[in-house]
Amino acid sequence: MKILFLDQSGKLGGAELSLLDLATAFRETCLVGLFADGPFQAALTQRQIPVQVLTQQTVNVSKDTGWLKGVASLRTLLPLISSTTQLAKNYDVIYANTQKALVVGAIVAFLSHRPLVYHLRDILSAEHFSSTNLRIAIALANRFASLVIANSQATADAFLQAGGRSELVKVIYNGFEVETYRQLAQQGRQTQQTWKQQIGLGNHFVVGHFSRLSPWKGQHVLIEAIAQCPDSIAAVLVGDALFGETDYVQQLHQQVDRLGLRDRVKFLGFQQNVPQLMAACDLVAHTSTAPEPFGRVITEAMLCGTPIVAAAAGGAVELVHDRQTGWLTEPGNSAQLATVIQEAATQPNTLNQLRQAALESASQNFSIRNTVTQIHHALDELTDIKALHPLKSLG
Ligand code: UDP
Repeated sequence: MKILFLDQSGKLGGAELSLLDLATAFRETCLVGLFADGPFQAALTQRQIPVQVLTQQTVNVSKDTGWLKGVASLRTLLPLISSTTQLAKNYDVIYANTQKALVVGAIVAFLSHRPLVYHLRDILSAEHFSSTNLRIAIALANRFASLVIANSQATADAFLQAGGRSELVKVIYNGFEVETYRQLAQQGRQTQQTWKQQIGLGNHFVVGHFSRLSPWKGQHVLIEAIAQCPDSIAAVLVGDALFGETDYVQQLHQQVDRLGLRDRVKFLGFQQNVPQLMAACDLVAHTSTAPEPFGRVITEAMLCGTPIVAAAAGGAVELVHDRQTGWLTEPGNSAQLATVIQEAATQPNTLNQLRQAALESASQNFSIRNTVTQIHHALDELTDIKALHPLKSLG
């Protein structure tokens, strides 16, 4: 089956990193069409995955955009839709990996008489989207998609809650190259002490946070928690503001200064070697204040053998079982997080048990092999392509 994947971003966000692993399995027969160039294109090329940037114009629809802006941006979408429809004739399935890709993909699928798959990697709720964008996403998925793949039960539930059709949805969790994580983590552990010294945290218990800097990712909650911990506990914030959240970055720096934590909280920016860095940390904290659709960083920490404390909402509660494969804390509760961090820092036996159980659980449940097999099966069920074309259902 020849797949035309569509993704709106040139950046390396979670949706793109997940598609990178998925498209690797389909690289002999697929094309990834992007609406922007950037490091994602380079990463696809490096993996020998066919990729094409489909437009030179910025597709300007933000997650909280209003109706008027949406209509205005539709004009800039028309040339993109037209060229993508031409391209689609060489493929069997249109596979939208993001919300803007759904907008383009739905029209392209309709015009090119191809089935549409929507890989839903967002919680479609008012916390994350404007009401206009929510309505558009649900209407397009309901009308044009033959299959909606939700990356967690939480994501599927939010889709249904927002009015999505239940018969379209299949939950398929993200998958990871388990063996690669194991090897990279081993490298990270070997260089742990040197790395800690390099960043000035040689004698500290280091809590790592790996995420783009954005208010709902809750880096401020971790900083608050570190302020409540003894001086021997420090944090590294790995990640950058990918979508222009510069005010938040400034606030984080001010918070660190105000709390006198310059020596104990380090900003490392965006890094490509996350597994090595995770393995060099003593604990990984996930602190999202809104429900996480999946939470790649949580699974990655588990696969690296670094204990995880995660905010108990959305997909996170499907990945971590409290006090069995990690810790769960109430989102936004820095006091509770500080207590868990201190427990982790002082109880090596508990830490080791959780580390081992997490590694086993994640290796078993979140391998890329499982994910690809499930997606293959789901796509095979779309074989009667004509019968599934949305024109048919127009009656
Ligand atoms: N990540 C990265 N470099 C960084 C920070 C994060 O490569 O400096 C990766 C991280 O390893 C994870 C992804 O970005 O694979 C984030 O995915 P997640 O599902 O946690 O959050 P999203 O960005 O999709 O909301």
